Amino acid sequence: MSRGPQGSVFISLMLLVSVVLFQWEVVQRTLNGSQFYSYSVCNVGEREQDNWLRTTFIQRRPAASRVFVEIQFIVRDCNSFDGASLTCKETFNLYTSESDADVGTTFRKGQFKKVTTIAPDEITSKNDLRINTETRVVENLSRKGFYLAFQDIGACIAILSVRVYYKTCPATVKSLASFPETVAGGENQALKEVNGVCTDNAISENLPRIYCTVDGEWVVPVGQCQCKPGYEEVEDTCQECQQGFFKAAASGDKCEPCPANTQSLKSGALSCPCMDGFYRSHICFLLSPLRKLVLSWSPPADTGGRNDITYSVDCQRCESNVCQACGEKIRYEPASTGLTDTKVLVSELDAHLNYTFTVEAHSGVSLLALPRSKPPSTSALTTSLHYTGEYPPKITSMRLVERTPTSLSLSWDVSPRPRALSPPIRYELNYRKKDDNLGMTTYTVLKLEKNLVQVNELNPGTAYLFRVQAFTGDGGNKISLIYFYCFLGHLPQNNTAVIFGAAVGGAVMLFIVAVVLFLRRRKRNSHTRQGPEDTYFSSSEQLKPLKTYVDPHTYEDPNVAVLKFATEIHPSHVTKQKVIGAGEFGEVYRGILKAPGRKEVAVAIKTLKPGYTEKQRQDFLSEASIMGQFAHQNIIRLEGVVTKFKHAMIVTEYMENGALDRYLKDHDGEFSSFQLVGMLRGIAAGMKYLSDMSYVHRDLAARNILVNNTLECKVSDFGLSRVLEDDPEGTYTTSGGKIPIRWTAPEAIAYRKFTSASDVWSFGIVMWEVMAFGERPYWDMSNHEVMKAINEAFRLPAPMDCPSAVYQLMLQCWLQDRSKRPRFGDIVSLLDKLLRSPDSLKTIADFDPRVSIRLPSTSGSDGSPFRSVSEWLESIKMSQYSENFTCAGIVTMDQVLQMKNEDIKNIGVRLPGHLKRIAYSILGLKDQTSTLSVFAV
Ligand code: AMP
Repeated sequence: MSRGPQGSVFISLMLLVSVVLFQWEVVQRTLNGSQFYSYSVCNVGEREQDNWLRTTFIQRRPAASRVFVEIQFIVRDCNSFDGASLTCKETFNLYTSESDADVGTTFRKGQFKKVTTIAPDEITSKNDLRINTETRVVENLSRKGFYLAFQDIGACIAILSVRVYYKTCPATVKSLASFPETVAGGENQALKEVNGVCTDNAISENLPRIYCTVDGEWVVPVGQCQCKPGYEEVEDTCQECQQGFFKAAASGDKCEPCPANTQSLKSGALSCPCMDGFYRSHICFLLSPLRKLVLSWSPPADTGGRNDITYSVDCQRCESNVCQACGEKIRYEPASTGLTDTKVLVSELDAHLNYTFTVEAHSGVSLLALPRSKPPSTSALTTSLHYTGEYPPKITSMRLVERTPTSLSLSWDVSPRPRALSPPIRYELNYRKKDDNLGMTTYTVLKLEKNLVQVNELNPGTAYLFRVQAFTGDGGNKISLIYFYCFLGHLPQNNTAVIFGAAVGGAVMLFIVAVVLFLRRRKRNSHTRQGPEDTYFSSSEQLKPLKTYVDPHTYEDPNVAVLKFATEIHPSHVTKQKVIGAGEFGEVYRGILKAPGRKEVAVAIKTLKPGYTEKQRQDFLSEASIMGQFAHQNIIRLEGVVTKFKHAMIVTEYMENGALDRYLKDHDGEFSSFQLVGMLRGIAAGMKYLSDMSYVHRDLAARNILVNNTLECKVSDFGLSRVLEDDPEGTYTTSGGKIPIRWTAPEAIAYRKFTSASDVWSFGIVMWEVMAFGERPYWDMSNHEVMKAINEAFRLPAPMDCPSAVYQLMLQCWLQDRSKRPRFGDIVSLLDKLLRSPDSLKTIADFDPRVSIRLPSTSGSDGSPFRSVSEWLESIKMSQYSENFTCAGIVTMDQVLQMKNEDIKNIGVRLPGHLKRIAYSILGLKDQTSTLSVFAV
């Protein structure tokens, strides 16, 4: 056995020994000066030829059920034989026969099965030798070995060589997981799922998996391994953090340098202990016996490009929860304000009091620099917290989203971000006036389910202190806490601050968190997306975006639109790695974006194929002009565009699991209703955002939703021409447009009334696709039949196992009267409600097995009963269990009809979704007498 080209293993080369020959002979030839042997036969003038050449026994590796046979041969032109044109042939046949043992020279024609007829591409005339190479596949091999045989039926042929090989996915390491060499599957198992193991010092929450394709290629790794605490990724391995660096948690991050006043003496540190003489609270500080202390802090990570940062320190003295300014009593060296250094010496402290220090960073800009009537952009108000200690709080930042003289909208982030399908987190917001320190402090408490809040009825010109606590959804565990204060009115030159309180007791203990709010518009937003007159994009889906989508067509020059809404990327910052799809305008690649000063990110790169017209280039880039206007967790994010170079590109975030329809088909039956509804919730949130921006998608379908590795679903496909040209589902209408009929609302088909309400109809179809694991809506019905059925008030039936509440929502989306359909806001709320009380998903909608599995499931494709178990299994897309049925002796449809649920389980069908599919189909088969009423009304 030898290794062939990458991913293939030779198992045999045809040898000139012990083959069985009937009429064939071994001939020695000279070609280009070198001699070689061939097997030849040339009985062209005689009728009814049946000449056989059989190979030696070819042993098979057990996993290799599919082998490739590459034949080099010569066929002589029949016209070159005078008078033989009636009997002469120019083809021969390839046969195979399986066997568990070598049978020597015994040859029984009847045991051979025909694989294919082989015809030459090029025929050899008298003086011009033409060698052909053809490769054929022999599938479904199951015994220990096999023979190949070549049948001649009257041609003049010479076989020069036969190579037999199978394909493998070579052993590999991907995303820190190693996967063993795997023999590629056959057609009935086009993608073989392979489990991997994390490499040394890497760990993963979920078992890393990957698929091996029939072509011996690895695709779609799932379940990323990450370097464990104290280790970082270096060239596909996990290496210890160097001395002076640390990493506290398993993540894809690099080791970080130890913060100020700490050190790590060993490599592989999980944290950095304080240096001698320094004491830890949230940071390390120096404590002197003279009731002095040195406060030090990290400068803001993001200075907004400013170098005029100064700091001021404020002190509050707290006793029994009552705080007041420390006043003149304590001393600061060099000063308490105007500090350019990141430390200050504080002295004259009282040993028995609690002190709270606030450090504020100031820049030359202030909130007042913006017009008061328009709130600054969200990004401008992002709070950066710099925790220099080893415990990173789970709520990482809080920001002011909007402010009026009497109200504030705040939102905050949780790290790690809750995954799409993780149980919800609840929050408790406490707030009070910041200087409310006369007597008892009264907090107002709000219980919240979202990471944002609008607080009304506040006093103008007053500073408020807010505190948020997060609780995990299930057991009510507190996970973290954060403080924030905000001034409601004219602000002084400095900005707001975040602070953690602390105690100074007998042994003085103090900590601070430095804090910065920078009035800074992120370059990209200010320069490209928003002019100063623009309102802002909310980063939080629940806040209605104040901005309306701008149709790039309204720009006279589409190139201006692209530059307004998208960041220009230099092509040298983009590396293409692998083709992952075909877009309308060119290939789509997976790749890496490494912009200067930013971390490397995985991206998808859409390219424009060479030879484009200017119109095609503009249409291609219009997608970026649209996508660049959106900023939402469930909308595919634009990283930027390359427009100034010959090869235009659109660079977006990379979605590891690709298109949703394909992904669900590949994972049929593997997700619970709760998980599926979680996916739908994400799509609905994205669509709510789009509809709030008055953007109508027109082509919402599972194929246009992308899925990342945390199963988060994001809406994509925004090209202006997409419905017209891009979508293979698009059908031409009489008016010349193209409409994906099965996904489109009746009024949009009838008179092109595309609105958010027609998007809601499409969302209903996406709900159906998701709950049916990527099944094609309306199965094999023609577009015409679909339109007729919809007009007659028929609707798709509930998918198998679909919660009743979810199906009811689909039916609402498909109301004929579009004004009665729910809005995306209603849909998000309802799905949230279902996810909060998973019991509500337990009631299953009525299901009609005859229609919910593919239509032909009650009979063969021509309407007759199924002729075999395998034909039936194929019709319900469960062919992978053919062998289980055969092994269990269930070989007739009569036996299938006798099967109970328990029997299906016993023959090895384990996945609940597959069990149900088979059981329901049997139910449907038993119920042949009922009519096939396709739709529930
Ligand atoms: P599109 O032209 O947007 O329809 O993209 C064609 C195909 O490329 C899609 O069906 C996906 O399989 C793949 N693709 C596009 N964008 C991404 C992305 N951001 N991440 C991963 N795959 C993508």
